[in-house]
Amino acid sequence: MTAADRVANRIAVVTGGASGIGLGIAEALTAAGATVVIADIEEGPLASAAARIGADAVRVDVSDAASVQSLADTVRERFGRIDIVCNNAGVGHLAPFSDLTLADFRWVLGVNLWGVIHGMSTFLPIVQETSDAGWIVNTASMAGLFDAPGMAAYAASKFAVVAVSETIAQELELAGSAVGVSVLVPGLVNTAIANSERNRPDAVRGAPPQLDQIPPGRALDPRHVGELVVEAIRAGDRYIVTHPEMLPIVRDRHARIEAAFEAAALAEQTP
Ligand code: NAD
Repeated sequence: MTAADRVANRIAVVTGGASGIGLGIAEALTAAGATVVIADIEEGPLASAAARIGADAVRVDVSDAASVQSLADTVRERFGRIDIVCNNAGVGHLAPFSDLTLADFRWVLGVNLWGVIHGMSTFLPIVQETSDAGWIVNTASMAGLFDAPGMAAYAASKFAVVAVSETIAQELELAGSAVGVSVLVPGLVNTAIANSERNRPDAVRGAPPQLDQIPPGRALDPRHVGELVVEAIRAGDRYIVTHPEMLPIVRDRHARIEAAFEAAALAEQTP
């Protein structure tokens, strides 16, 4: 099997596919020869995006396990198999911890983390059963790799997505599975994430965040990120990095942790 076979002529599902990175991934997968189902909570943009890129559309709320199950049932009935799943739907909410409410945490974790957990628990067994070379891509963020003020809720969800993805990837590798997992860790991408409140249900409603929702940095085109995702699926990469210039920030966090270990070792040696 050539690496390209993991994308061309495959059946792919992309959550959060009506906008931004999900739409960029869906476009890149379609251009690479996959049949794509985009799934999203926002019905209007979902229908128009699907018509524009020639994808199927299914409404889903990834924070709701039954809704994700219904998405999987629909795709399986329609196509008979599922090869690629991109658990990408997500929301952003940056605010100092003192301004974050429990509703903020419930919303952000509900979509960003539970969305990925629902996606993994629902789709992974189907991909394992129906695909001979399946692949799953979970969208985390650079906010899953380093700490910064304003990120308590968002980074909590994204660190956890990195952890879930790394763990399952290792387990599948150890089991010799034909299915693999990548975790996408983008820096800034030019999307509608700063306007995430548009999709916030009343049950977890809160005040809109006061902090600037767009951190400084080089903003990439979502379609470019989609192309990196397609390349990573073909290559079987564990991590999909979009902003190599952000390595020093990750190194800085690791260095602080390493320094604490070194200090602990020194303290043990000191009588
Ligand atoms: P976006 O707002 O353009 O797209 C997110 C999509 O998810 C939207 O279409 C939205 O309707 C959908 N969505 C929201 N809640 C949903 C729910 N409960 N169920 C189903 N769909 C839902 O934003 P984006 O930047 O493209 O975000 C995509 C992913 O990328 C998110 O996981 C986000 O955290 C991550 N990310 C974005 C950036 C960035 O700079 N834009 C950086 C790192 C990570």
